[in-house]
Amino acid sequence: MSFNIIPGQHKTKKILQDSIKNQRISHAYLFTGNNGLGKLEMAREFARAILCNKNVVNACGECLSCKKIEHYNHPDFKITEVLKDHKRILIDQIREMQKEISYKPYESDYKIYIINQAAKMTIQAQNSLLKTLEEPPKYAIIILINESKNELIPTIVSRCQEVKLYNQSKYVIQDYLKRNYNLSPKQALLYATIARGKYKKAVNLSSEEDFMNNREMIIKFITNIEKKNNLAIYNFSEKLVELSDTDFPLYELMLSLLRDILVMKRDVKNNIINFDYKELITNTVDKFDIYKIYELTGMVNKYNDYSDKNIKKELLFPSLLFKIRSSNNI
Ligand SMILES: [Zn+2]
Repeated sequence: MSFNIIPGQHKTKKILQDSIKNQRISHAYLFTGNNGLGKLEMAREFARAILCNKNVVNACGECLSCKKIEHYNHPDFKITEVLKDHKRILIDQIREMQKEISYKPYESDYKIYIINQAAKMTIQAQNSLLKTLEEPPKYAIIILINESKNELIPTIVSRCQEVKLYNQSKYVIQDYLKRNYNLSPKQALLYATIARGKYKKAVNLSSEEDFMNNREMIIKFITNIEKKNNLAIYNFSEKLVELSDTDFPLYELMLSLLRDILVMKRDVKNNIINFDYKELITNTVDKFDIYKIYELTGMVNKYNDYSDKNIKKELLFPSLLFKIRSSNNI
């Protein structure tokens, strides 16, 4: 185990490793980036590298310190997060952390505290933490983790060094899945593409039976949409609304399907993402002309933006499906 457990993110890893090598470790960090990129894993590996008894910029994974962090029983390392059955990180949790941090490290030169999903801290908790960030003990390293910095109070953000994680290319994720999860290159590329750069999402998708079932339902419906009457479209829309409230990657799947139709239109020998539905997709190729597919792709992208803004999906999905049906040449 080392930074290698997180696929890609070379720039981010280099920044962290250089800071250890050059002994320029900050007292406070804020790790940002989309969920599913491995922010917590990155923070943990950073802590392991700092506290490792053997290696400098990469945890050895074998020394006592590395083992203790792995098993969450290192006295100088702690993760604070939302407690079970709670919705927020409470001020009492921060106070407890502050009390601990006031004691010198037990086994190393540093004490490292991670606060996961930092924006879940109540405002009182954030204000309390601010005091520690203003005057941290010289051995303290506090790592906040959050999707975006905008959800935290600005005075906290200004005290932290931001470390960004980025969405990775599908090939980086594909390679990671192949190496670690025993998937074929085609399977790995499917999950990597649908997960759009987030390896943890890709790993989850590869183990969810629901994902495969719902995907089958959607691909079969859309590739046969010319046979569906209005009632069928409304019923199907309802299912999509339900799915869109889960973490099912609906838009990503639709985009991959449109992309596959486009790719097959150019050359049927091309590799497609949804390789296990090649026959259905091949049969669809003549039903749409290229410009219609571009138009539909734009529409799906636009709807993806809309759905972030809480515009009623009950209205969006039927209109998208009717548009797909009317784009059909048959
Ligand atoms: Zn070690």
